Amino acid sequence: MLPDIFDRDFKPSAYWWEAYTPTAGDLAEIPRTARVAIVGGGYAGLSAALELAKHGIEAVVLEANELGFGASTRNGGAVSGGVNVGKSFTGRNSNISPARAEQVLSDASDAFTLIDRLITEEGIDCFWEKPGRFVGAWTRGHFAAQAQRLAMLNAAAQSGAYMVPRERQRQEIASDYYFGGMVVERSGKLHPALYYKGLLEACRRRGVAVCAKAAVRRLDRAGAEWRVETSRGAVSAGDVVIATNGYTGDITPALRRRVVPVASHIIATEELPQDLARSLIPKGRTLSDTKRVLCYYRMSPDGRRMVFGGRARFTQVDATISAPILYRYMTDRFPQLRGFQVTHAWTGNIAFTLDALPHMGERDGLHYCLGCNGSGVAMMTYLGWQTARKIARAANYACSFDGQEFPDHPLYFGNPWFLPIVGGYYRLRDQLDRLMAQR
Ligand SMILES: Cc1cc2nc3c(=O)[nH]c(=O)nc-3n(C[C@H](O)[C@H](O)[C@H](O)COP(=O)(O)OP(=O)(O)OC[C@H]3O[C@@H](n4cnc5c(N)ncnc54)[C@H](O)[C@@H]3O)c2cc1C
Repeated sequence: MLPDIFDRDFKPSAYWWEAYTPTAGDLAEIPRTARVAIVGGGYAGLSAALELAKHGIEAVVLEANELGFGASTRNGGAVSGGVNVGKSFTGRNSNISPARAEQVLSDASDAFTLIDRLITEEGIDCFWEKPGRFVGAWTRGHFAAQAQRLAMLNAAAQSGAYMVPRERQRQEIASDYYFGGMVVERSGKLHPALYYKGLLEACRRRGVAVCAKAAVRRLDRAGAEWRVETSRGAVSAGDVVIATNGYTGDITPALRRRVVPVASHIIATEELPQDLARSLIPKGRTLSDTKRVLCYYRMSPDGRRMVFGGRARFTQVDATISAPILYRYMTDRFPQLRGFQVTHAWTGNIAFTLDALPHMGERDGLHYCLGCNGSGVAMMTYLGWQTARKIARAANYACSFDGQEFPDHPLYFGNPWFLPIVGGYYRLRDQLDRLMAQR
């Protein structure tokens, strides 16, 4: 028996899939040879294939499941250009030099420029808007830390960021939940599954073979080529791109040891009364907060539903577990949403790295672009694009995420058994921080 937060027509699948459902379609044949074989058909894989095609390089995309199975049709659709990637190295424990931090932020800002341009150039109809983001401060200390980051974000990523004190918070959100927060003007939102569909169509328009139900099972170096064995036959390729992010598996054990797959969960509410819906986030921004176990939320593209996400659990769990937790987080922020029901709940995997930064690199023609750390709509599009430009030897190619040391841990082999413990610990730290802030 489902608890009564669930609508009668509740679906345990992404709200976005009402507009585009991941599908295998008519299975594209796997070519016997290709200049580049791309493993993983999410934003990164498609964006790489698209850019390669623009350089006249033939690529095949090999996707184990339906097209759009991964995080790329399941995410919150909040698009950032630096605010999240910067989080990892502007804190007290940072060991990254200011010069590198600046480069990384500048590239993250380029990722925002790229997605903006790509959507326009390819005519992708995905409710793309740039209303900005509000990041709520969980404690007074977090508010002060945000204020310290402003200058760097604005200088290196042109974020257009400014602080909003608690007294003016209601201009951003119909709630007093936070201790003020930071507005980041250079941020956007889109419908993630329609963005995915648009990228897929752009690839197909240029004749890229995008092959669903083609799980790559083995990669072998054979002379100057790679032999890529899939569940539907083998392909020989000069270069291989691994674009599997939070679904990275056994075929690349060295990469699997470097990414930690973590689940993120989302709920969508039923359609809300128009006045209420309009009042919740008056400027239509996306929202997130400074908690360790953060929440992220926005209104649906038609402005009628709350789409509310967070790490209710760090592992994949049934909607009967994740949805009530997210519902509580949502109504803590918006008590006015109590009683409205949940129509959709879903989950997907993101990929954390041990230095909290995305990575791309190459060895013997085996390329990778991995590690979204929770924010990959723009970033994974960008890393796929950059990987393609590197393969194409584009004249002005440069990327600060490329070729950097990709750390592993001697005790981690790809099985994140410790996540429930880490999740519990982080939640406890969040609660303690908040208790201290309210004293
Ligand atoms: C619930 C949720 C909310 C999120 N919210 C946001 C957000 O609001 N903003 C934001 O910027 N980011 C967000 N993200 C992150 C963002 O969705 C991802 O960073 C991005 O979609 C990753 O794209 P990708 O192409 O790298 O990987 P994916 O889209 O995950 O694609 C990887 C693909 O690789 C395939 N694969 C794996 N192994 C093989 C194999 N052996 N052979 C063939 N194929 C294989 C998988 O089937 C999968 O389809 C969120 C993620 C989740 C899960």
